[in-house]
Amino acid sequence: KQTYQRKPEWLKINLNTNENYTGLKKMMREKNLNTVCEEAKCPNIHECWAVRKTATFMILGRVCTRGCRFCAVETGVPNELDREEPERVAESVRLMDLRHTVITAVARDDLADGGSEVFGETVKAVKRLNPQTTVEVLPSDMKADDASIHKLMCGEPDIFNHNIETVERLTPRVRSIATYERSLYLLNRVKELYPETPTKSSIMVGLGETKEELYTAMDDLRAHNVDILTIGQYLQPTKQHLQVERYYDPKEFAELKDIAMEKGFSHCESGPLVRSSYHADEQVSAAAKK
Ligand code: SF4
Ligand code: SF4
Repeated sequence: KQTYQRKPEWLKINLNTNENYTGLKKMMREKNLNTVCEEAKCPNIHECWAVRKTATFMILGRVCTRGCRFCAVETGVPNELDREEPERVAESVRLMDLRHTVITAVARDDLADGGSEVFGETVKAVKRLNPQTTVEVLPSDMKADDASIHKLMCGEPDIFNHNIETVERLTPRVRSIATYERSLYLLNRVKELYPETPTKSSIMVGLGETKEELYTAMDDLRAHNVDILTIGQYLQPTKQHLQVERYYDPKEFAELKDIAMEKGFSHCESGPLVRSSYHADEQVSAAAKK
């Protein structure tokens, strides 16, 4: 049974995706690149691309080997690995004149290293061509082993981000293949191996979790040395995806932020439209000041 709740007012925004973006979008198509900003029809695209000079690239193809029940990315047989992709991403970062870029990827369970080598090469290429641009990586759990972590981190990203997405109880229902424990392990292990790199994770709310479960997830992240947290409202991408159980109001997001800061995160973004990469540029500078 599907029941549809009306979207509350604070989630209704005007998508300002007019002529400003035509040129940039054309470039993305010409270079055969995918941004999450466009694919996910992210409501923050105007602010991110034009004002904050931030964009999120999705590499390693358009097709994911997993099928998380909140995610609109296509699932199936993955694309051939494209060794030219790192240079094309780097060139696009330059043409977009980005201050901060987030590089994420579909899960590549078909590859022995989970795609971590091309991921690391992309970070290197972006930094080589754009020394002023800060780079945040947002991988799947890959193989969660030291070899893939090193391949990914050899490009020296400024932030390591890996999302737990939801509370422990709901993880098997919401995510596919990924587990709560392995994600926490990965975040902790990256911190052990690269103690200077800030780590970050993200939780979507509105999937049926309780507040207590959210606080426990925050404690678990802190116990695994995660520095930065983002919290946003889950929105159902299509009717085939998990339904929204509840819309949190802006006051509740503000309370969650206060609690997260009390629990010791160095930075927390929490709001209805907050996405994993939202205001990421500020988090780099906050982490650098630590
Ligand atoms: Fe892109 Fe993230 Fe900004 Fe959305 S919040 S426009 S996905 S960088
Ligand atoms: Fe989407 Fe990532 Fe899950 Fe793949 S692993 S379905 S890209 S959330």
